[in-house]
Parts: sequence; structure tokens; C-alpha cells
Amino acid sequence: MNGKDLIGTHYLPPFEIGDALQRTEYTYRVLDAEYVEKDNTGCVHTAPGFGPDDYDTGKRYGLIPFCPVNEAGRFTDAFPMMEGKKVRTTNDDVIAYLKEKGLLYNTSKIKHRYGHCWRCKTPIIYRNTRQWFIDVPKVKDKMLSEIDRVKWVPDWAGSGREKNWVDGARDWCISRQRFWGIPLPVWECSCGAKKVVGQYEELKEGEGYTEGMDTHRPWIDKVTFKCPKCGKTMHRVPDVLDVWFDSGVASWADLGYPHKKDEFEKWWPPRFIVEAHDQTRGWFYTQLAAGVVSFDRAPYDEVMMHGWMLDSKGRKMSKSLGNVVTPEEVIEQYGADSLRYYMIMANAPWEDTSFQKLGPKDAWKVLNTYWNVVNFASMYMVLDSFDPAAHTLENMKASLSNEDRWMLSRTEKMKMAVTEALETRELHKVARALTDYIMEDLSRWYLHLVRDRSWDEESTDAKTAAYFTLYRAIMSVAVAMAPICPHITDRVYSAMGGSKLTVHMEDWQKGDASLIDEDIEHSMALVQKINAVVASEREKMGSKKRWPLNAVYIHGTDASVNDAVKVFNDILAQQVNIKKIGYLGAGEKAPIDVEPVDFGEGELFIDPTVTPEIEAEGWGRDLIRAIQQMRKNMKLNVEEFIFCDVKAEDHLVELFKIWQEHICGEVRAKQITYTDAPAGERVEDLEINGKVITVGVSSSKI
Ligand SMILES: [Zn+2]
Ligand SMILES: [Zn+2]
Repeated sequence: MNGKDLIGTHYLPPFEIGDALQRTEYTYRVLDAEYVEKDNTGCVHTAPGFGPDDYDTGKRYGLIPFCPVNEAGRFTDAFPMMEGKKVRTTNDDVIAYLKEKGLLYNTSKIKHRYGHCWRCKTPIIYRNTRQWFIDVPKVKDKMLSEIDRVKWVPDWAGSGREKNWVDGARDWCISRQRFWGIPLPVWECSCGAKKVVGQYEELKEGEGYTEGMDTHRPWIDKVTFKCPKCGKTMHRVPDVLDVWFDSGVASWADLGYPHKKDEFEKWWPPRFIVEAHDQTRGWFYTQLAAGVVSFDRAPYDEVMMHGWMLDSKGRKMSKSLGNVVTPEEVIEQYGADSLRYYMIMANAPWEDTSFQKLGPKDAWKVLNTYWNVVNFASMYMVLDSFDPAAHTLENMKASLSNEDRWMLSRTEKMKMAVTEALETRELHKVARALTDYIMEDLSRWYLHLVRDRSWDEESTDAKTAAYFTLYRAIMSVAVAMAPICPHITDRVYSAMGGSKLTVHMEDWQKGDASLIDEDIEHSMALVQKINAVVASEREKMGSKKRWPLNAVYIHGTDASVNDAVKVFNDILAQQVNIKKIGYLGAGEKAPIDVEPVDFGEGELFIDPTVTPEIEAEGWGRDLIRAIQQMRKNMKLNVEEFIFCDVKAEDHLVELFKIWQEHICGEVRAKQITYTDAPAGERVEDLEINGKVITVGVSSSKI
């Protein structure tokens, strides 16, 4: 026999139920339902008074829900044989009863899924109760068209998720049987009449209302109305509203609407809201439904949906898993700005992020690099009494070098990239644009280039131009990064003499297109590329880092490439550390017999010959670096002069003497003495290229 052949079959109920159960055509008959699985008997008992699935099935067949269980979980007098007993304690009574009646076929324990309270894990009972609903299907079409009107970030948060949810939305139950909460403003009479109070003004007409009273429970329940139909007393429905209803009306309730209008007219509707992706069924939805019911529109124009911060393995952080990382511990270690910067940078805002321990540390490195740039710049600016207020772009223009112009161009591009990413809400791109700018353009490249200018003794125009450019870069970062890292940016802004009370009062900077110079950027990009290519070749050749290369020959794919590189010829020579740069035109051959190396827009040839001059310069540079390290270890001020004693084998001393003047200048030595017994505040045996050199350093102040 097939299951469907049973549909409609009558059966005798095992229990005696009184008249409280209203019988209809399909009471005590076999019905069909899609959710019944064929495991076990393939039959389940349907009780429309105890659960949504059963309720729906009952509704299809016209069954009237019967629920002889009260709020305390005890049977009521509608089921006399168990009256007063707790539902979950009657299993033995039921079995005993069936046995006695000869109706028990078998008894055993089975495991099955059961609903539990999500918070305290208590097993729960579904009960059919009287509730209040918003008829969402009635406004569904308008809700769907509002989803189309609103801008969603990302787009699929609206066109996919929210639409799917609203499409399948059912009635929204807004009543709760609680004490705390907004009282449901409905009064009822025993004759069936209802009164909905929409305003305080109407409430004042009620019996028992006193001016200034607390309109929550229990006081509100003392307010009654006279029934306009029958004259009896109307009492408030004891329910309160679902807190999700509160959240749904928050946008105008918060402004005091409808009893106050001015703030509402000024601010409503909010343009933009932001919440996590779990709010598709929550706040995004409740606001949409409440807004369409009340104002025929969504109470927002743009929704930004963000992801969750998960643990490193992508699991939800929870106390029971013991995988919670608190913001406090990260802030303690790396600071609040680092945590904020990491969270913005790690992922697109709408993606979940698996928290990586090293993430905030990487963010800290970026901020620390910025901090170091600021330190370096301000130190020299103070030394040279640079006054940022005394210079404008207009009066600086003539003094700007090509690398200054390059930096200004990069700075404006950074502002544009940051602005664009903010407009599209791709916040991770804001952080990434800032990171590239700080780490590469500003610290690794520009600061490196202007370092030599800062050492110049005289305050030249070129130096001022560098300070001007550097200052502009630092302040531009402060403004662009302020929304993400409010603390460090404000500190820098104030310390560098920002004109407003705080960086957060500055105007936003969209970037000045007139300062963008694509040709110069192309030239510098070529130099950077060649620098990287030569560095990696040198490493392969095993050539010493600080020893200059004899020559590099550039052979661009066409003359314009060579010309573009030539713009920064000196910088290339200095950064790559080359004695001579040659440029090869079309058809020209390199004067040396080495393999060409590709640099993207052409090829280059490296001459690895070590001449006596190169050897001298190489040793000189190595000594400079060693002494500078000693200065650092001694914590000498940058402007402080020193005396140096050096002991080395004769051949090296001869080489150092060739570079004597340069070495003195670089390490700020008033004098270098070659002696067999170096003395000084600090004396170190330095191992350089396999030779031991002893150096003594003293501050000239002593
Ligand atoms: Zn609970
Ligand atoms: Zn009445």
C-alpha cells in the first residue's frame, strides 16, 4: 500500500479529549505533508497547536489549532487527564495509560533532533499562541522595488541576498510576551472592538492617564478607554513589541517623530547605513518593512554590508571554542590605529576576515615607517628652520627638482586613489593605496633620494624644495589616513604645525590633477625597474653591495625609453651605484661582451670589472657604513662631529686615504687618524669583507 492511499483515512485517537478540541472535517484523519520523511514509520503525528509545520498543514485542511498547554509548560483543563502536569514529565504516565488500554505496541528510546533555546540550551516546546503580525506579503512588491532603488555595497547584498529574503518573507510577528519593552499600543474590549493609540495626544484621553507618567509596563496597563461600541472598559493587550520592531522604526523614532517634526524634517531619511551580513534578515529588513509600511519607502538610500572577523582558521570566535582575540589585547600590543588599519586593509569590507596574528604587526610596520619618515623630516626641518607656512606651490615651482615633481605627482595620485576607493566603499583599497605610497614612494624611494640633500650644510633652494615636498607628502598622508588611523594622524598633524585644531577638521583632499606628471612617473618607474633588475643581477654575480659597478649600458626598445631614463640619470647612477651609465641607440652594440638583461622596456648590459678606483670606493663606503653604525650605537646626535682612529693593513689605509675627504664628510669626522692603537669613547674590531679593521670613535664635544 502506498502512503498516498492512506490520505483521508479515519482513525481513533488514543486519548480522550473533551469538547475543548473543536472538531472539523479532517480531525483524526490521515493527511499528507512534504516534510514527512520515509525513515521509521513514514507517519508523524500532526498537532497544529504545537509548531509552524503542523500549523501550516492544519491550515491547509482547515484544522483548528488546539493547544492545551499553558505558558508554564503545564497541561490545562482542556486535557483533563493530565491537567496541571508539566509536559516534559508525563512520558511515563502516557506509557502507563497506553499499556493499561492495551494500545501499546512497543516502547524504546530513540535519538532525534529537538529544538533548544539558543541561549541557555533548555529544551523548548512550541505552543500555538495569539500574536500580532505585520502583513509583509501585502507590501512585498514595494519592498522589492525599494531594494532596487537603494544602492547596496556590494551589489549582491541587495540584488541577491536581501531580495531573496524579502521574496520569501512571511508575516512578521511583532508581539512578545515580556515585561520589558515598548508596550503594544492596542486596547481591546470583550465585545471584540479594538483601539490603536498612535500618539501621546490620544493616550491622554484615556482613563487613568496622568501627565508625565511612565508609559511602560506596569503603569501603562492602568490606562483604559471606554468602548465606543458597547460602553464597557477596553484594556491594553498585555504584549510588548519585538525589539526588532524598535530597530525597524529607529531612524525616525530616534528623531522624536511623529510627536516632534523639526529634527525629522532636517535629517530623515538617513542616506547611509552599515551593518554586518547577518542583518539581511535583521536591521536591513526590519527598517525596510517598517519604512515601506510607514512612508512607502526604505528609510535609507545606501546600505553597506560588512563581513565578520573570524579566528585564524575561519571559525566564529566564541568563548566555548576559546579562540577569542579581544581588541584590548591587540591594542595593548600594537595600538588602536594598527588594529584599525589591519582590519581595513586585510579584506574587502564585505568579506569575512580570518584574523591573523601577524596582521596587526604588518599594519604597525606601515604606521611605524610613516612615523620614522616624520621623525627624519622634522629633525632636519627643525635643524634648518624650515617654515612650511612660508612656502607655496607657486613660489616653490622654480626650485623643484624632477624627483620633487615625481613625488608631488605620486602624492596627488595617492589622494585620488584614496578618494575613489572611499567613494566605491572599497576600503581595503584605501589602505592598500596608502601602504604602497608610504612604504614605496615615500620611505623607500623619495626619502632615500633627498637624504643627501638634507646633509648639505648650506640651506639651498634644492633643500627647501625637498622639505616642501616632504612636508606636503606627510600632511597629505595625515589627512588621507585620518579616517582609518585617527590617533597617529592627528599627532603628526599637530606636531607638524597643522593649521586646524585637529586633522579631523581639515577639508578632504581629492587630488590636484594639474600636478600629475605621467612622463616623470614613467621615467622614475623605469629607474626603479632598472634598479631592481641590476640589484638582482649583482646578487647573482656575488658583487659587493656598496661597491660601485664599473658601467651599465641601457638599450631601450626605442630612443624615447633612453630619454625617459636620462631624466633621472644621476639618480640611477647614485641608487644603483654605477660609475658610468651608457645609452645605446638603435643598432648600437655594447662595448663589453656580456649577456643582456631584460628590464621590460629594453635590455641592459652590466660591466663587472673591478678597477682600483672601484676597490678604493668600495672599501671607503664599507668603512663609512661601519662608522655610521657605531655612531648610532653611541646614540650621537646627527649633527654632532666626531674624531676617528682607524687601524687597518697598509693596503687598506692607502685606499681609505684616497677617499679620506668623502669619508669625513659622510660620517661627520673632523679628523681620521691611522694608528696601531685606536682609542676613543668606543673602540670596535670590525670585520669587513674578511679583514679586521679597528675603529675608535669620540664625540668632538669632549
Ligand atoms: Zn533560554
Ligand atoms: Zn465593546
